[in-house]
Amino acid sequence: MSIDSTPQTSVSPEPPTKQTSYVFQSTVNKQLPHAVGGDGCYLIVEDAETGERRRILDGMTGAAVGALGWGDETAIELVANSVRECHYSYSPYHCNKNAEALGKFLIDNSPPGVFTSSLFLGSGSEANENAMKLVKQYFLERNLPKKNKFISRSTCYHGFTLGSLSIGANSRAKLFQDILLPKELTPKTDVCYPFRYKQKGQSDENYVEQLLDNLESLILKEGPDTVAAIILETLPGSSIGTVPPPAGYLPGVRRLCNKYDIVFYLDEVMCGTGRANPPSGYGLHCWENYLSPQEAPDIQTIGKTLGSGYITIAGVLIGNKIQKAYLEGSGAVIGAHTYASHSFNCLAALKIQQYIKQLGLTKNIFKMGNLMGTKLHEALKDNPIVVDVRGIGGFWSIEFGKNGTPDNDVFPLEAKVALRIQAQAFQNGLTVMGAQGGFNQVGDHMCLAPAFIIQESDVDEIVRLTTKTVNDMAVQLK
Ligand code: PLP
Repeated sequence: MSIDSTPQTSVSPEPPTKQTSYVFQSTVNKQLPHAVGGDGCYLIVEDAETGERRRILDGMTGAAVGALGWGDETAIELVANSVRECHYSYSPYHCNKNAEALGKFLIDNSPPGVFTSSLFLGSGSEANENAMKLVKQYFLERNLPKKNKFISRSTCYHGFTLGSLSIGANSRAKLFQDILLPKELTPKTDVCYPFRYKQKGQSDENYVEQLLDNLESLILKEGPDTVAAIILETLPGSSIGTVPPPAGYLPGVRRLCNKYDIVFYLDEVMCGTGRANPPSGYGLHCWENYLSPQEAPDIQTIGKTLGSGYITIAGVLIGNKIQKAYLEGSGAVIGAHTYASHSFNCLAALKIQQYIKQLGLTKNIFKMGNLMGTKLHEALKDNPIVVDVRGIGGFWSIEFGKNGTPDNDVFPLEAKVALRIQAQAFQNGLTVMGAQGGFNQVGDHMCLAPAFIIQESDVDEIVRLTTKTVNDMAVQLK
């Protein structure tokens, strides 16, 4: 291709047809209201034109971020003070003690021996990018350079950078598929979604066996010596909406990873760091509901509630097996991010996590979240467009369908039911996350992930507003 070197006459840029927002965001054709503050479980939004303010019950805390709720003066102080106590570092010759302390805290609050090291980034997508590269280098350290494939599930979400979109699979990933990692490196196995894909009359046990058989066949077809990792969201959020894995599924995947020398990689960016840890657990990980410490992941990504929306931080937790290969190998991690494991972020996150622990909030959200689930079940059981209510701890979803049954009842994509429900909820004074069900567009659903501080009165209000919203929608869809 030749490059035209004729001098260009200067042309003044065309003025925008209409100035809307100075930020390029999800809705570019209108100025959205601004979130200007918060008060516990409530968010305060201000109309950009009129300045009118509304209090909205934050059922979703952004993208399942806000563990502490909003405007917590202690949290604000802890974060504000952190800046005085830290110093930036980026060098092969020094690091910062705050990243060490946060890593130690997360490791100490996991079942003993499961994780031995950590790395901190700014977002869940970056955490997944880095975890993928850590896995790749792990196999290089072991002189297994052919292990390059990352198996994920046919509907899943792992972030919005190109690497994380490559291991993702949903309608958004599909739009970008021409510029992602080659499909040969990112094979997909069945999503675990009993509500939609379990055959009529099939037992959970048999369904799990079928999923594991299919996964093993895929590993064998791809060649075990080429498969690096199997990546799963312990409790999927953005893709199919909080589907708890049936008994035996995650342990079965772990067994296959052991059998074929594959890294067992859990993405707990959305469901982890306290959102759904059982009361008997150590306080952080959702997988403790389904796996013993001996079956724990080899590597895990975390984010969102790690900084509780007060700071931007996500991370990778690394198990002994992986760390050992580095120690016995090159002794160095290849790669660099200017702001990786940033001292301020790590100190602020540490203080936030210590504060959450001190207040016993992970136990509270498990109890209150399950209560919310029970009450949602009851309130929505006869609703004509609700087909399933599911979740665990502080993370729940409601799936919608035409006839109140899962048989051929999905709403057409053009009806935009999930997005309309999200908008209707906002109008009614509640934030929820609406989503359509991935590649196959199975099941519109909405998610709820409230702050860990919720009390029974907040649960009742979430249930009341959700029921009102779903009823409003059922009338509109008639
Ligand atoms: N992984 C999972 C499971 C997620 O749900 C998300 C975000 O929703 C991400 C990764 C990406 O995190 P982030 O949006 O912070 O990049």
